[in-house]
Amino acid sequence: MKNNPFPYSDDNKRYYTWNYYLKKTYNNKVFKVPLDAHFTCPNRDGKKAYGGCTFCSARGSGDFTSVADNLDAQFNDGLAMMKRKWPDGLAMAYFQAYSNTYGDVEALKNIYEPFVARDDIVAISIATRSDCIDEEIAQYLGTIAKRKPLWIELGLQTIHSKSDLNRHETIEEFENALTLLRQQNINVTVHIMNSLPNESVEDMLATARFIASHDIQALKIHMLHIMEQTIMGEQYKKEPFTLLTREEYISTVVRQLEILPPTLIIQRLTGDAPKDLLIEPTWTLNKTTILNDIDKLMVKEDTWQGKYYTSEKPQND
Ligand code: SF4
Repeated sequence: MKNNPFPYSDDNKRYYTWNYYLKKTYNNKVFKVPLDAHFTCPNRDGKKAYGGCTFCSARGSGDFTSVADNLDAQFNDGLAMMKRKWPDGLAMAYFQAYSNTYGDVEALKNIYEPFVARDDIVAISIATRSDCIDEEIAQYLGTIAKRKPLWIELGLQTIHSKSDLNRHETIEEFENALTLLRQQNINVTVHIMNSLPNESVEDMLATARFIASHDIQALKIHMLHIMEQTIMGEQYKKEPFTLLTREEYISTVVRQLEILPPTLIIQRLTGDAPKDLLIEPTWTLNKTTILNDIDKLMVKEDTWQGKYYTSEKPQND
């Protein structure tokens, strides 16, 4: 667009949207079909901890996956649903629930090979924890990436440890997994979360600066959702803590976008929470207006993704 100074956009967006990337890459609508391959997580089964991250929902962040046991049935149900909306759209299989590389390579092959072989899937996205990536697993994932576009999603959430989130994952584990995946030329998406307890806006910007200084291909930024049936939900009911307001969240996201590389694909700037489980903040339920107001603020301030990006490594963030 003529008046938009941001190069990776053909509309009013001043950041590198996932839709823009998909349109340029596939020349078509691409939708994700969320799947639950019935993994668990080292943070739930006792390998590292019990109970899971304090913010994690009972379904391991897979609240929108099908409940069918069989993965093929899940995929076919999801595909049929998406095709009703986008008859010509292309499908990406999205292994969303829990930690989808928590197992040995043989077990992973049994799950992923049938999906790699399917012609009606253009790409695969796998969400996991960095401590569930070792050299052998990264090598196997590398063999998938040679056959089909592959995205691995790592939940970092924050570089700080200002509150007990029961995450049991270190920055070293994250950096180690990132290195192993990038050695295999695998695309990496990272999740970060704004408004975690005891974090200031400056802390959230430091997490964004950390992302900017690493070899990461895509980012999802979420507002913290406090949900029913989570440890944090119970904590919040006993002792509520301050959350970012809608306006503060929008301005924090814009500040984060400014310091990120312009070539980093932004997969999300808001998250989804099931309405019946969301305790706070309820303003997150209206995603479209949040995204519109991010666009409006960027125009008003004449800013864009990468405006203040610098490739220098941050000092001791
Ligand atoms: S690592 Fe992921 S799946 Fe496991 S408890 Fe934390 S958020 Fe949930």
